[in-house]
Amino acid sequence: MDEQFQLRKQRDLDPLSIFYRSQVHSQRERERKREREMDGREAKAEEEEEEREIVIVGGGICGLATALALHRKGVRSVVLERSETLRATGAAIGILANGWLALHQLGLASLLRQSSLPLQRAREVWLDKGSTKETSFGHGETRCLKWSDLINTLADALPPHTIHFGCQIVGVLIGCDGTNSVVADFLELKPPKAFPLSVVRGLTKYPSGHAFAHEFVRMRRNNIMVGRIPIDDKSVHWMVGQQSTPKDARALQNPDLIRQSTLPLIDGFPPEIQQMIEDSDVESLSLTRLRYRAPWDLLLGKFRKGTVTVAGDAMHVMGPFLGQGGSAGLEDAIVLARCLYQKLSEVNQIQSRSQMMMHKVGEAMDQYVKERRMRVVRLSMQTYLTGLLVGPSSMLVKLASIVLMVIFFQNQNDHSRYDCGLL
Ligand SMILES: Cc1cc2nc3c(=O)[nH]c(=O)nc-3n(C[C@H](O)[C@H](O)[C@H](O)COP(=O)(O)OP(=O)(O)OC[C@H]3O[C@@H](n4cnc5c(N)ncnc54)[C@H](O)[C@@H]3O)c2cc1C
Repeated sequence: MDEQFQLRKQRDLDPLSIFYRSQVHSQRERERKREREMDGREAKAEEEEEEREIVIVGGGICGLATALALHRKGVRSVVLERSETLRATGAAIGILANGWLALHQLGLASLLRQSSLPLQRAREVWLDKGSTKETSFGHGETRCLKWSDLINTLADALPPHTIHFGCQIVGVLIGCDGTNSVVADFLELKPPKAFPLSVVRGLTKYPSGHAFAHEFVRMRRNNIMVGRIPIDDKSVHWMVGQQSTPKDARALQNPDLIRQSTLPLIDGFPPEIQQMIEDSDVESLSLTRLRYRAPWDLLLGKFRKGTVTVAGDAMHVMGPFLGQGGSAGLEDAIVLARCLYQKLSEVNQIQSRSQMMMHKVGEAMDQYVKERRMRVVRLSMQTYLTGLLVGPSSMLVKLASIVLMVIFFQNQNDHSRYDCGLL
């Protein structure tokens, strides 16, 4: 955990004061502070404005979407990102119907549609058995977006100076800091657990165009799964799922090593698959050990302390089996911004620095957690059971998973029917 953050925690500082006096240790902020100090009245006005800022930790999909949702409602926030640039961690990301509804609320759906193909169906291919099954994505549209397109579009829609890179965090309000969230630690949430599975992801460009159908194909052979999704006419996102091994840790930071260790796994897959991975853009390669926050921890977890809460993977990291982690983070952003806006609107200017305001922020977060809890418990449960089915579990566990799936998730595509509502 961040040293300074821990220091604050040990001193047991009121998180509310952290929220209102967030210190951003970036060169730009220090310069701005100096400028304000040199300038009388204008400085005072700006200081007051800054004191109203909400601090979001993490500039991933959920952090940027939360900042944008707040901005659309006229509420200022800053995003603190530890990297020096926006990170494109997963090459590309599938967005299902519920994710598009959230993007629509953010005003970005039409723009993002321009850089991605609508996918018509999903197809499972078992190379060992020689059988194929077509499935649908269920309700509404599904597209695959380049990670950089999604992240950059969210960031470009934010007002200037909202994102602060390479920041040392001394306090937090909304933790969108992903799987290893320091904010989740602050909230004393149980650490995420690991699936015994790892996934390599990448992008391959086809300068003269590819001829793949507009579908998400998953091929399986010898416990290896290869997935392929076209993004547009010239680029394809792919993933290779395998049982995790100790070697994964060595490959984690080295894209060349990731490719070298992936190629032998796909022996026996069709030649176009091997070619796709050989020709992949090395910079896009990443290897992820799959983690999840257990559904029962989501059901019982306390997701607010004072005015500190979490969203996105920091709250509900889940396996990628439903392709819903990112979209669930977009939904969080809409619901959290809506709750904060509603409660903050009830406070007038005179009250704005008082305990009343802090109380309202706490209420807004409770409302957000209440609205989100069962949605993410269900998503996480379905993902967990799917993970047991596709992973290396015993026959008994697989059987129990099927029974629970039949009881709780009769329509397996219902998860994409969810509408997070208006911003
Ligand atoms: C193999 C795989 C495939 C997936 N496919 C899909 C899919 O098709 N569709 C889908 O919807 N989802 C998918 N997901 C899930 C999706 O990628 C995540 O749910 C989503 O990226 C989470 O976004 P986030 O913003 O919450 O967290 P992250 O993307 O993890 O962003 C967290 C950010 O916080 C920053 N940060 C971390 N700690 C700190 C700190 N202390 N201070 C400041 N900054 C910090 C990080 O640098 C990072 O930029 C997939 C996941 C995996 C592993």
